[in-house]
Amino acid sequence: QTHAPIRAIETLPGNLADQIAAGEVVERPASAVKELLENALDSGADQIEIHLQEGGNQSIEVIDNGRGIPKEELLLAVSRHATSKIYSMQELVAVRSLGFRGEALASISSVSDFTLRSRTVHDKSAWQISARGDGNWHGPEPSAGQQGTSVKVNNLFFNTPARKKFLRAPRTEFLQIEQLVKRIILSHPQVGFKLIHNGKMVRHLPACQDELSLQNRLKNLLGQEFVEHSLEIEFNTDDWHLTGWVGLPTFNRSQTDMQYLFVNGRVVKDRNLSFALKQAYADVLYHGRHAAYVLFLNVPPEQLDVNVHPAKHEVRFARNREVYDFLRRSVRDAVGKPLAASESLQPG
Ligand code: ADP
Ligand code: MG
Repeated sequence: QTHAPIRAIETLPGNLADQIAAGEVVERPASAVKELLENALDSGADQIEIHLQEGGNQSIEVIDNGRGIPKEELLLAVSRHATSKIYSMQELVAVRSLGFRGEALASISSVSDFTLRSRTVHDKSAWQISARGDGNWHGPEPSAGQQGTSVKVNNLFFNTPARKKFLRAPRTEFLQIEQLVKRIILSHPQVGFKLIHNGKMVRHLPACQDELSLQNRLKNLLGQEFVEHSLEIEFNTDDWHLTGWVGLPTFNRSQTDMQYLFVNGRVVKDRNLSFALKQAYADVLYHGRHAAYVLFLNVPPEQLDVNVHPAKHEVRFARNREVYDFLRRSVRDAVGKPLAASESLQPG
């Protein structure tokens, strides 16, 4: 038993609640970049620029040419649980956008110097709002800018010392962002990307118009060797579709650094899915060697739960086992030993 004095229960001030919740969504600069890129993609943009200073520790800016946010909604966009992407449980169940929680901008803006600028097709100028992590918003005020949205995040975590302590050197944070950006670029061929770090253009990929530009993008991101030592695959059942490139067993790696799997266009980190793919290669790779692949798995949205974790890294399938089987068998079929007749692919 402790004898601390009884304290009255009080609701946390809104901004403090946001800062606490922010911890789940924004762990480091790369997670802020992920959220901002997802928003840009959800807005229908086909050109996206990412500007970083000092690995994002000092500044992150994501600029898109998407549909923009109306002036009257700017302040709503940065408030918690406000979203234009779902309005009901029915819509959540079938969600196709990358975002839906309505938390990212509220979270990020509570732990940074933050400016949101946007212009829709109906506006004669852009409008912007800004705050310094304290919930005191300035604006909307007119500003210069093309159609689309720009979000600028300066001094991430400046007002949450515990979190700021865990920021690593700019180089380390930059590498994390670069990995993430690579994944996003791979999964959105129809979008052009620029990544600029400390004023230097690090990546510049035009939107893919055709098969050739897609091959070029793959070459640019994974290297010529992967392109030459991989197979393009496509497997379908009534419900599930798997496409992409699987590295041949001869092209194996000492690390899992060239394994890219996307589920319904989302970057996922799912141990079960990775394991299924590891098994697919088990017979054709030496122990300790790792496969390279870029795979896109698409399932009907209502069979997928993307709301497992605030950062949306993990997913669950309504028919977990069968999906893992589908993945394992398809890839094994492409790269490994022929399947025994009894194992032939059965759509569940
Ligand atoms: P969510 O993406 O889950 O809806 P966010 O906090 O990331 O939540 O964004 C809140 C809302 O702000 C979005 O639903 C969207 O309407 C708007 N928004 C945010 N970023 C953009 C953008 N880049 N372009 C257009 N609208 C945006
Ligand atoms: Mg979002």
